[in-house]
Amino acid sequence: MADSSVSLKGSVAAAAAGTIDIERCRDDFPVLRREVHGKPLAFLDNAASSQMPEPVIRAYTEYHSRYHANVHRGVHLLSQEATAAMEGARETLRELINARSSKEVIFTSGATDAINLVMQSWGRANVGEGDEILISTMEHHSNIVPWRMLCDEKGAKLMVIPVSEDGVLDMEAFASMLNDRTRLVGIVHVSNTLGTVNPVKEITRLSHERGIPVLVDGAQAVSHMKVDVQAIGCDFFVTSGHKMFGPTGIGILYGKQELLEEMPPWRGGGDMILSVSFDEVLYNELPYKFEAGTPNISGAIGMGKAAEYIMSVGYDAIHAKEQDLLQYATEQLQTIEGLKIIGRAPEKSSVVSFVIEGIHPHDIGTILDLEGVAVRTGHHCTQPLMDRLGIVATTRASMAMYNRREEIDQLVAGLRKTIEMFR
Ligand SMILES: *Cc1c(COP(=O)(O)O)cnc(C)c1O
Repeated sequence: MADSSVSLKGSVAAAAAGTIDIERCRDDFPVLRREVHGKPLAFLDNAASSQMPEPVIRAYTEYHSRYHANVHRGVHLLSQEATAAMEGARETLRELINARSSKEVIFTSGATDAINLVMQSWGRANVGEGDEILISTMEHHSNIVPWRMLCDEKGAKLMVIPVSEDGVLDMEAFASMLNDRTRLVGIVHVSNTLGTVNPVKEITRLSHERGIPVLVDGAQAVSHMKVDVQAIGCDFFVTSGHKMFGPTGIGILYGKQELLEEMPPWRGGGDMILSVSFDEVLYNELPYKFEAGTPNISGAIGMGKAAEYIMSVGYDAIHAKEQDLLQYATEQLQTIEGLKIIGRAPEKSSVVSFVIEGIHPHDIGTILDLEGVAVRTGHHCTQPLMDRLGIVATTRASMAMYNRREEIDQLVAGLRKTIEMFR
């Protein structure tokens, strides 16, 4: 089959010893070799979008150059190959998050689209006047705005779990906010702004004691840590391809089969039906019921290959590498006078947000860019969190498995230069 010819064997890192050498894994990412403004690129903006390794790029382009065809309806070979590759990707993603069945893995255009699917289908059928949706202060706008829209439409209330100054979720407040009107708990697994890792398993346990379903926004989790949706017990889990070394415009919604079966379709069109007449439509089975129209086939194949890549590196190696980078970055940044780290949760992924007295983050980001350092500045799609912390923006360095201590040194040197310029 076309897809299986793209294996990890071609990657330098994989060739090392059957397993991926985390240091050499860098060689798999062509973009990391480039220069920016005449300086070596230090790519520290992985929380916004991570880079793609060679096997993902190859799988993606191979679909376009060898078997581009529509899926599910064709009898010809190309269509069969495309279908097999896309369904193979679904199975790989099922394995990555340990869903029970690939029927529980629905392709969407991203994490945002997946949350909107839950809101439009599950939400509109299950939330009414006076009901409550419970989210947290550290949610990404993607896990706020759809619920705000639903609450406005239904006359429901959006309730918000507080976070501490350090960026830790207030679990006592959370437990006390669960009540008979709570219809859904929506919680970010890992905060894109603070790096905080939330206790999603405990949150799910407490919610389920009251029969309340839980949606976990895992956009920042999958590239950093093993996610087991069955162990967490959550009802919905969403993530995006481009946050886990895959392409943009693709993501998945995981949902428990029982729930997905009950949910009405949201978008109507081709592929999501069994039969259509002008009087009646019979809907297709899972997961196709929620995949109207021609899907992002190459995106799905690329995302599946990215999942394969992550599994071949292994989460133990990824975790060890990233925690070292996190610790190193935290230590080094603290040596800079006037710099304050935002987000000091005991359990963090490799994200460091900070502010520097007297210098706007956008100025910091612009000067760092000239030094070859790519970071993100702004509110990171978490404006309510910024309000809570009494700031308008931060500079955020977010590390992935392929980053090096040298890149953090480059960041720190760039920051010292920035401070010199503003003095
Ligand atoms: C990026 C991100 C999203 C949105 O993902 P899209 O790919 O833009 O749909 C949602 N939640 C978190 C925590 C994110 O980091």
